[in-house]
Amino acid sequence: MKTYDVAVLGGGLAGLSILYHLQTAGKLAGKQVLLVDPERKSGHDRTWSFWERGEGPFEEIVYKHWNQVTLHNTNDHCTCDLAPYTYKLIRSTEFYAYANGVVDGINGLTRLPGLATDVKTDGKEVTFRVAGKAYRSGVAYSSLPHPLDHREVKQPYLDQHFRGWYVETEEDVFDPERATLMDFRTPQLGETRFFYVLPFTARRAVVEIAIFSNDHLRTEQYDDLLTTYIREHWTGGGYRIEQTEAGNIPMTTYPFPQRQGNLIYIGLGGGAARPSTGYTFYGLQRQLAAMAARFPQIGLEPVWPNRHLLYDATLLRILEKNSLPGDQVFVNLFRKNPADRVLAFLNGESSLWQELALMSTVPTVTFAATFTGEVLR
Ligand SMILES: Cc1cc2nc3c(=O)[nH]c(=O)nc-3n(C[C@H](O)[C@H](O)[C@H](O)COP(=O)(O)OP(=O)(O)OC[C@H]3O[C@@H](n4cnc5c(N)ncnc54)[C@H](O)[C@@H]3O)c2cc1C
Repeated sequence: MKTYDVAVLGGGLAGLSILYHLQTAGKLAGKQVLLVDPERKSGHDRTWSFWERGEGPFEEIVYKHWNQVTLHNTNDHCTCDLAPYTYKLIRSTEFYAYANGVVDGINGLTRLPGLATDVKTDGKEVTFRVAGKAYRSGVAYSSLPHPLDHREVKQPYLDQHFRGWYVETEEDVFDPERATLMDFRTPQLGETRFFYVLPFTARRAVVEIAIFSNDHLRTEQYDDLLTTYIREHWTGGGYRIEQTEAGNIPMTTYPFPQRQGNLIYIGLGGGAARPSTGYTFYGLQRQLAAMAARFPQIGLEPVWPNRHLLYDATLLRILEKNSLPGDQVFVNLFRKNPADRVLAFLNGESSLWQELALMSTVPTVTFAATFTGEVLR
């Protein structure tokens, strides 16, 4: 059985990121490293947006950033300066090329194209199979998917399903200095539905619809919503769709596996998506950079602090039960608080004082009752 020091199962965002952080922290010298994924990731399959204070590890591949965002509900809007945060967008094309470049620099690296199966640990070694052959490793990071059936999850659970277009318009319609973070000007139909618009120039932008609900739409239904939104709020003129993007992120406080001895679960399958927003990129990088810094020690490094998971369970339950409309909750958070307080909170890096200040601006009765219910649960 071939033996490795470090195995990484799944070479998407989380798998490439853990190798990136281990390699840049100088932890892989002299190590035999195995990366298992059926494909070498490249090209456009998603974009990652996130906000961050100052410069981050992937600054040189940030495709576009914004210092201002707008939020709309049916009859009102607010525009916020994000300082000291910046809203950033990284395209998968640049991320995969950059991260794979660093990973290719690992001297002891073997890439094994295939699906990892039968992943097990006895506490000392992790074993798994690829194409019928057995392998073992001293430590393994797994970002293999952890599919959930929402009907069987006891914790609050909402899918965030989305579809969007990279558009080029015939006229100048976008303000490239300002992103639209959430635009709720569409019938909510008892769900939380919003668009976001990330403009690169006056004529080029990503326009996406995101829906928090366990009922998904057909492709043409998302497309109808996008068509209507662009016509009603951006341009009656022509535009070309350059690319499309679609996906689903489970938003839940379900306890994803985190670690079994020397088998560490990372990425979406390790619960890296923020339950109340679906944002994953920033929290994941923070977690993986901290894990890499401590390597070869392996400790539990949760992506999101426990008390944030409790806040998220509260918010998700409110949205799930439609106790308050999502547009009111999100737009009011930004309207009634300085943006840096909201963004620090959503990144899981707020102080208790900031969280209390934030809570004083939400409808107290509904939040307090739901919060108490989640604590008791
Ligand atoms: C379209 C889209 C847009 C998103 N946008 C954002 C965003 O703007 N901001 C944000 O913070 N988050 C975003 N997310 C959420 C999250 O950041 C991404 O889903 C991210 O790619 C998750 O990383 P991951 O490594 O867990 O999964 P992936 O990146 O999907 O990687 C999993 C890898 O595992 C491999 N694999 C699967 N099964 C096996 C197996 N048995 N053996 C070996 N390999 C296997 C796959 O080939 C894949 O390469 C988005 C998600 C999607 C789908």
